[in-house]
Amino acid sequence: MSAVNEKLIRDVVSEVLGRLNGAMTLPAPAAPASACSCGDKYVNLATGGSLAAASGRHGVFSDANAACAAAHEGFLQLRQKGIAARSKVIEIVKTMAEANAVEWGRIELEETKIGRLDHKIAKLQIIKLVPGVEWLRPDARSGDHGITLEEYTPFGVVAAITPSTHSIPTLSGNIVNIVAAGNGVVFNAHPSAAKCAAMAVREYNKAIERETGIRNLITIIETPTLDSFKAICSHEAVRLLCVTGGPMVVKAAMQTGKRAICAGPGNPPVFVDDTCCPARAAKAIIQGAAFDNNLLCIGEKEVFVLDQVADKLMQRMSENGAVKLDPAQLDRLTKAAFTFKEGQGGGCGHAMTNKEFIGKDPAVLAKAAGVDLKPDTQLLFAETDANHPFVQEEQMMPMLPIVRVKSVEEGIERSLQAEHNYKHTAIIHSHDVENITAMARALDTTLFVKNGPSPAGLGLGGEGYLSFSIATPTGEGITNPRTFTRVRRCVMVDNLRIY
Ligand code: NAD
Repeated sequence: MSAVNEKLIRDVVSEVLGRLNGAMTLPAPAAPASACSCGDKYVNLATGGSLAAASGRHGVFSDANAACAAAHEGFLQLRQKGIAARSKVIEIVKTMAEANAVEWGRIELEETKIGRLDHKIAKLQIIKLVPGVEWLRPDARSGDHGITLEEYTPFGVVAAITPSTHSIPTLSGNIVNIVAAGNGVVFNAHPSAAKCAAMAVREYNKAIERETGIRNLITIIETPTLDSFKAICSHEAVRLLCVTGGPMVVKAAMQTGKRAICAGPGNPPVFVDDTCCPARAAKAIIQGAAFDNNLLCIGEKEVFVLDQVADKLMQRMSENGAVKLDPAQLDRLTKAAFTFKEGQGGGCGHAMTNKEFIGKDPAVLAKAAGVDLKPDTQLLFAETDANHPFVQEEQMMPMLPIVRVKSVEEGIERSLQAEHNYKHTAIIHSHDVENITAMARALDTTLFVKNGPSPAGLGLGGEGYLSFSIATPTGEGITNPRTFTRVRRCVMVDNLRIY
């Protein structure tokens, strides 16, 4: 049988079986003996041994172990097909994310009910800014004793945990980075954003299967749970974790014993001094804090402003699409947006954010505050003290607290405290190099943006590349293909140096 016919027949039979029982596909063709020398047990799955590993329709699995094993098969197929296949997969993901941005953005918003449609769409249109295989240029050394090459090579299967706040964008960006590095990937999405994530995986896999012949390079758990998280993290084929989410999942990932790249929570402070341009600062702050109703982990969450420039800044914010709440309105919104344990009712302490308000439109918040808004209002803001829950909690709402400070030192000190040592993101509006340097050193964050909106830190209006997974507590920074590689050295002694 010719290779073409075999593939055609395999695809047809797979499709029929899939329709008959909803899940089963044929095992992938056996890899040539020369293509794989690792000798590990998952190689056998690619030669037709296990239906459990091969089940799942276009990468969507009900069983976590099967999803991991299938992603390992996918990884082996990718390895066999080389770097050209990685580039093809990346091209597919970037092209599809952009082409489907409107529809997928709508689907994600309908499922999660958080954020803004225009920004959900934008987040998918910019997946093309995530770096690919071009980031894996090897390092070489040449000297009297020969030459040495250090290559960035894959781990195998990476398990990726994605947040509710940007489900398809994080998944898509993770695929680009992880596959560029030569790995397969298994996803456990947030339960409240799992359907759209599974839909994207299904669509990506259909195109990948069609264009490269590789099956299940990307797999996902259809109904993710804590148990599926644990099963994935303990699966032998999974060599590395990439976790994007809040403090609980970061803690859980670090306790698995596997190496974990953790893109954790933030609470980005903004400090504004009297050397800033108030109009530019106001526009940038609104742009960053209003983006997707402030769901971004890098988004401006609280502002500390020098007293002498505070009125001017707030005036410019009002002129540029933000609406100021008075103290009574702020009080009503605070009581609706947070719950307080007994004895904490006044504002300080650890308030719990009310999920009903996370990522909701300004109009929803304004209603709770008792304000009528113009429909194009981007953001609400209000003057608060530094201990207010809107300052201290990562509230992810389009309501920005503004706190007056008396000195640069106080502004930096309060920013440091509000950032809670997440080492995530901080922003300054200043033209004083000493103030900028002092804040950068004190805050010690992964991202530090000067005189621009927070997304400039991800290459959107600033220089740099994009990723939706910013590894903060574990220190890898804005993830890129190299983040998901093992560095391996190959040494030729005394030879091959040409001069
Ligand atoms: P979340 O922590 O509720 O969920 C994130 C993921 O972790 C989900 O898949 C969820 O199912 C899983 N999860 C949560 N607790 C878990 C546990 N104990 N064990 C196993 N899995 C668990 O976060 P979210 O509301 O979806 O997203 C918002 C949070 O994510 C914010 O804190 C935000 O700052 C952070 N975030 C960080 C980045 C970054 O790049 N650093 C990017 C996006 C979001």
